[in-house]
Amino acid sequence: MNRDRLKKLVAEGRLIAGVYNYCDRWCERCPQTSRCLNFSISEEEFSDPETQDIRNEAFWRKLSDIFKETFELLKEAGEKWGIDLETLDTTTDIENMRAKEEAAENHVVCRAAKSYGKRVEDWFQGKEGFSFETGFAANEDLDIEEAFEVIRWYQYFIAAKVMRAIRGQREEEEERSDGFPSDSDGSAKIALVAIDRSMSAWGVISHDNHVLAESVFEMISFLDRLKQAIEKTFPNARSFIRPGFDKIDLNG
Ligand code: SF4
Repeated sequence: MNRDRLKKLVAEGRLIAGVYNYCDRWCERCPQTSRCLNFSISEEEFSDPETQDIRNEAFWRKLSDIFKETFELLKEAGEKWGIDLETLDTTTDIENMRAKEEAAENHVVCRAAKSYGKRVEDWFQGKEGFSFETGFAANEDLDIEEAFEVIRWYQYFIAAKVMRAIRGQREEEEERSDGFPSDSDGSAKIALVAIDRSMSAWGVISHDNHVLAESVFEMISFLDRLKQAIEKTFPNARSFIRPGFDKIDLNG
C-alpha cells in the first residue's frame, strides 16, 4: 500500500483512530475489522494466496515495503512535530530500554503473568490423549474447542500486555504529567479483558466435569489472583476507554 492510498484510507473517515492499540490482535474474532487501519492494510497487502503464505518471499518483501512507507510517514510526522529521528541518542536509548526491560521482567506481576503461560502449557501437555468428547459436557454458549481456542489465544498475550503496562508505567512516572489517559492503563485493561475471558473459558471446561475440576479450579484461582494484582497495580485500568471497544459512561 503506497502513501497516497494510506492517506486516502484515513481520509474516508470510517476508521477509528488507534482502535488497534488496545485490542487483542484476534482479527478473526474482532467486531471492528471494517474500522481498523491495521486490518485494512493487511487485507489489501496480503489478500492473494501467494502473499498470504507467511513462508513466501513475497510476504517479507511486502513487509519491507510497508516498513519503508511507514518510516517515510514517521519522518514526515517527525518534521511536523520538530523531532529529528537522525539525532536521537540511540546508544543511551538502547541502554535505557534494556534496563527498563529487565526491571519490568523482574516485576512480581510480570513474573506471575509469565508463569500463567507456562502453567497453561503444562496443563495441556498433561491432558494429552484425554478424551474430551466423553469427559466434558459442552456449555450451550461456547463449546469446548472454542474454550480451548480462547485459552490458547491469551496464554502468552496476557504476559506480553502486562510487561508493556509495567514498562509503560515506569516511563510515565519519569516523563508525564499531562492528565491524558495513560498507555499503561490501556495495556493493563486489555490484559484484564484477556484474563476475564480466559477465566470464562476455564469455566466452560470445568462445567459438569469432575475429573479435571481441581486442576481447572487452580487455573481460575491463579488468574483471579493475577487479576487482583493487576487491578491493584493499575487502579485506573478498568475505567480506561479503549477506542472502538469500550463505551464512555456519560453518567460517570
Ligand atoms: S482492532 Fe481488531 S481488526 Fe484491528 S488489529 Fe485489533 S483485532 Fe485486528
